[in-house]
Amino acid sequence: MKSIVWILAVQLLARASSQGELPAPEDKPNEAKLMSRISVGNAPLEQRNYQVAPAPYNLAEQSEPYNIAFDYHNYDQMTRFLRATTSKYPSLTALYSIGKSVQGRDLWVMVVSASPYEHMIGKPDVKYVANMHGNEAVSRELMLHLIHHLVTNYHSDPYIRWLMDNTRIHIMPSMNPDGFEVAKEGACDGGQGRYNARGFDLNRNFPDYFKQNNKRTQPETDAVKEWVSKIQFVLSGSLHGGALVASYPFDNTPNSRKSISTLFKIVLLYYYTSCLCCKDCAGPQRCALSYASSPSLTPDDDVFKHLALTYSTNHAKMSRGVACRSSQKGFRRGITNGAEWYPLTGGMQDFNYVWYGCMEVTLEVSCCKYPPAHELPKYWEDNRMSLIKFLAEAHRGIHGFVMDEHGNPVEKASLKMKSRDVGFQSTKYGEFWRILMPGMYKLEVYADGYVPREVDVMVVDQHPTLVNVTLHAAKRKDGNFYRPQQQPPLYHRPSIKPQQPGFMSSITSGFNNLVNFFG
Ligand SMILES: [Zn+2]
Repeated sequence: MKSIVWILAVQLLARASSQGELPAPEDKPNEAKLMSRISVGNAPLEQRNYQVAPAPYNLAEQSEPYNIAFDYHNYDQMTRFLRATTSKYPSLTALYSIGKSVQGRDLWVMVVSASPYEHMIGKPDVKYVANMHGNEAVSRELMLHLIHHLVTNYHSDPYIRWLMDNTRIHIMPSMNPDGFEVAKEGACDGGQGRYNARGFDLNRNFPDYFKQNNKRTQPETDAVKEWVSKIQFVLSGSLHGGALVASYPFDNTPNSRKSISTLFKIVLLYYYTSCLCCKDCAGPQRCALSYASSPSLTPDDDVFKHLALTYSTNHAKMSRGVACRSSQKGFRRGITNGAEWYPLTGGMQDFNYVWYGCMEVTLEVSCCKYPPAHELPKYWEDNRMSLIKFLAEAHRGIHGFVMDEHGNPVEKASLKMKSRDVGFQSTKYGEFWRILMPGMYKLEVYADGYVPREVDVMVVDQHPTLVNVTLHAAKRKDGNFYRPQQQPPLYHRPSIKPQQPGFMSSITSGFNNLVNFFG
C-alpha cells in the first residue's frame, strides 16, 4: 500500500510542477490635499503622494445622463466611467492611480465620500480591492455599480449619506487590469487572465507572516503595498470569484506539513473523485471537494467571524452555505477560515492584517468567475446590501487619539489590545481605530520616549467608543528617555524556522504548489 501512496504522490507532484496616505502632510491636517505623484519623481516612498486625475470638464458630457450598464467594462470603458463619475460628482468622488500594471495600465482607485479630497480627522478609511485575479470579473463590475449606487443615492438614502459622511471609501475596481483584458466572458473556471502580464498570481505575491515568500514582487503588488503603508485602512474587502463564501485570516498557517495519513487521504480523494477543492479554481472542472486542513486563527477571530458573517448574512444566498457545484461542499453560514479551506503563502489579507492592522476579508462573490453579462443584474442585487453593510463595520469598536501631555499628536505609537498580539499604529494625527466586539478590553500603548500605558476600555454594540490616550514623556535617572522593553506588537515577525528539505517537506510543498495553482 505504501508504494501505491508513493506513486500517487509522485504523479501528483508531477502535475503540480506542470504548471500617503492620500492627504499630503501639511501644517493644517484638515487642509491636506492630494499631491502630485508625478512631480516628486523618484523621491523616497514616504514622500510620494498620489495625484488626483483631473475630472474632464466637458459641458456636453456633464449634461449626459449618468449611468452604468450591466455589461463588462474593459480598461478604456472603465476609465471613461470613472472619469465621468468625477466629472458629475466632484464633491463626492476623487479618482487617483496608485501605480501602473506591467503593461502600463493605471491602477485606479475611486474615493467615494463626503470628503473625497481630504482626510477626515477621526473618521476611518476603508477599501475594496477587486479583480486581482483578472478573470474574476464579477467583482470588477460590482465595484463600478457600487460607485454609481453610492453617488446617486447620497441625497436620497439616509444610511448611505451617513456612511459617506463618516467614512472615506476607497474602491479599486481592478488590481489586475492586464489580466482582465485577456480573460474570456463565459469562462466560469480556468486560469486565463488570472495572473498578471508576467504570469504571477498577485494573491501569492505579498510578504507572508508565516513563511518566506520568494516570489519576485510585481508592480501591482508593490503599488498596493505602498498604498496601504500610506493610508491607515481600518477595514478592507478583497473581492474574488469562483466560490460563494467570505473567507477570513489567517490564509497561511505555521504548520503546513501534513501527516502521512492526511497526505494519504488527500491523494486517495484526488484520484477517487478526480477533483480538488479550490478557492478560486484555475483548473478546468476540478472545483470540488474539500480536503481537511486545520484552521489558522488570529487573535481577532471573533471580529473576523463577525465581519465575514456581516457579508454572508446580508448577501441574498451566501449564508445558506449551498455549494457552487454538486461535487463541492458548502460552507456553514457562508464563511470559512482561509487556512481551513486551504493554506496559501503570500496572500493579501494576511499582509493587510499583520503589517498594517487592517482587517481584510476575502469575499468570493460568484460561483462562475466570468458569467455572461446578462447575469450581472442578479449578482449586483445579491451583493448590494452586503457591500454597503460590510463597510459600515468600520464604525465598531474603539477609535481615538494618542497625544502627548501638551496635546500634540503622537505618530506611530504602537497599540494593541491585551492578549491580542497583532497590533496597530497611530497616524500622523495621532489617530487610531480597532474593530472590536462588545466587551471589556485593555488597550496597551507604547511609544519611544514615553511611559507605556494601559487603558481599560468598554466596547458597546451601538457605537464606537472614543478613547483618548495621553502619554507622558519619561526620563530615566541616567538622563536618557525611557524606551519600552517590549518589542512593538506591529511588524513583529514570528520565529518560525524554515522547513528542512526532505521527503515529507518536498511532498507537502509539491502538494501546496498544486493547490496554489488551483486557488
Ligand atoms: Zn481570486
